[in-house]
Amino acid sequence: MKLYLYNTMTRSTDEFVPIHPGRVGMYTCGPTVYNYAHIGNLRTYIFEDTLKRALIHAGYKVNHVMNITDVGHLTGDGDDGEDKLEKSSRETGRSVWDIAKFYTDAFFKDEEALNIIRPDVVCNATDHVKQMIELIKRLEEGGHTYIAGGNVYFSIDTFPKYGALARLKLGDLMSGARIEVDSNKRNPKDFVLWFTNSKFGNQAMMWDSPWGRGYPGWHIECSAMSMYYLGEQFDIHCGGIDAIPVHHTNEIAQSEAATGKTWVNWWMHGEFLLTEKGKMSKSSGEFLTLPYLQKLGFDALDYRYFVLGAHYRTQLQFSMEGLKGAANARTGLMERIKELGTEASSAVTGKAQAYLDEFDSHIGNDLATPRAMSVLWNMLKDEELSNGDKLFCVKYMDQVLGLKLDSVKSGESEFPEELMKLIEMRTQAKKEKNWAMADEIRAKIEEMGYSVKDTPQGPVPVRKV
Ligand code: AMP
Ligand code: ZN
Repeated sequence: MKLYLYNTMTRSTDEFVPIHPGRVGMYTCGPTVYNYAHIGNLRTYIFEDTLKRALIHAGYKVNHVMNITDVGHLTGDGDDGEDKLEKSSRETGRSVWDIAKFYTDAFFKDEEALNIIRPDVVCNATDHVKQMIELIKRLEEGGHTYIAGGNVYFSIDTFPKYGALARLKLGDLMSGARIEVDSNKRNPKDFVLWFTNSKFGNQAMMWDSPWGRGYPGWHIECSAMSMYYLGEQFDIHCGGIDAIPVHHTNEIAQSEAATGKTWVNWWMHGEFLLTEKGKMSKSSGEFLTLPYLQKLGFDALDYRYFVLGAHYRTQLQFSMEGLKGAANARTGLMERIKELGTEASSAVTGKAQAYLDEFDSHIGNDLATPRAMSVLWNMLKDEELSNGDKLFCVKYMDQVLGLKLDSVKSGESEFPEELMKLIEMRTQAKKEKNWAMADEIRAKIEEMGYSVKDTPQGPVPVRKV
């Protein structure tokens, strides 16, 4: 199976060819663990998981590395503001280490619920300060740095290709217009590699370095850790599109200035999840988390289904109606699959194989998940296919979709356990003619996003749209 993937660096969709035949080195920028991941962040992780699944499905052995940013990410991308974890610590009175642990655990709980395959390597920035210092030393030896006001800066004028990823026109120095410019910077787009002098003196996380006690800049983390685990040249680097103009641009400058080689072959970026007011972001204070959606009665996989319904390079508008639509569709899908029984064919040919080929061609076309999902639906509705062949196709397609489609057992309910319990309690209350209690339980069921339909077979939950 061939994979054609869009590359932000070249702005074109080309056949993916790895550096080493059969193997892929892939780095994805991980979360900054000062708060819960919002469902916009999670959209990016779902896209990256789909990419990884597609690579595995295409026969590659993938080595996936993801960092956890637990130090150095300031509230502004241009070295302005305060370390996000330190800020959270000051506001909550909890230690930075506690905060990092708590939100890292919460993040992996979300990832697991979304059926995201855990990266082969998860690396904390705070465990790799040594590698960061080594890289900064290398840049210093190459004449790419200067020290001013106690901080070590990367000088972008020493790297002529600066800004190629974002196609920045270096004439328009926008950063100067929007943010407070650090007067130590020779060029407003220079950035900090190592802080010893921060506006916020009492940092809890500090390390000794050749330039004094301090802490690393955010961008150097990803360069140092990705090269440590994947080598100086690797295949794919991903993130959300907001990483293009500053974070990834600076990562490239540092890495390539240090090694003199092209660092990454494929740059891939996921588009934003939007709220009614624009990009979902933590700083706006208006964001939704996965546990919140789960509390409303949604399954995490309803959200995964919702995300897969849009191509990763298009903006996706979030709405509860949209999510309910996805939840209903996914429930319908699971019900259909349940009816197929449990015996999958051991191989397929003919029409069933044609569906698989069509599915692969959509996935291979820059991960066209909406089209791939419609092939899944068409295949399930096709009366010419046997149940065994359908089940084979479901399992095959789910390797990429990751919707746990093959985990449905005949007779298993698709609805949350808590909901089923409430329905049982309501039936009991009605039997006992305790109408007030029955009404109270119905209200709880409605809060979870369901209504109850009384049928001759007994009461069944219906998701409200
Ligand atoms: P952070 O934890 O803030 O470093 O962000 C984690 C990932 O989520 C990064 O790759 C961001 O580019 C991405 N991201 C941030 N906001 C959104 C959004 N609204 N939609 C999709 N991805 C996002
Ligand atoms: Zn990064």
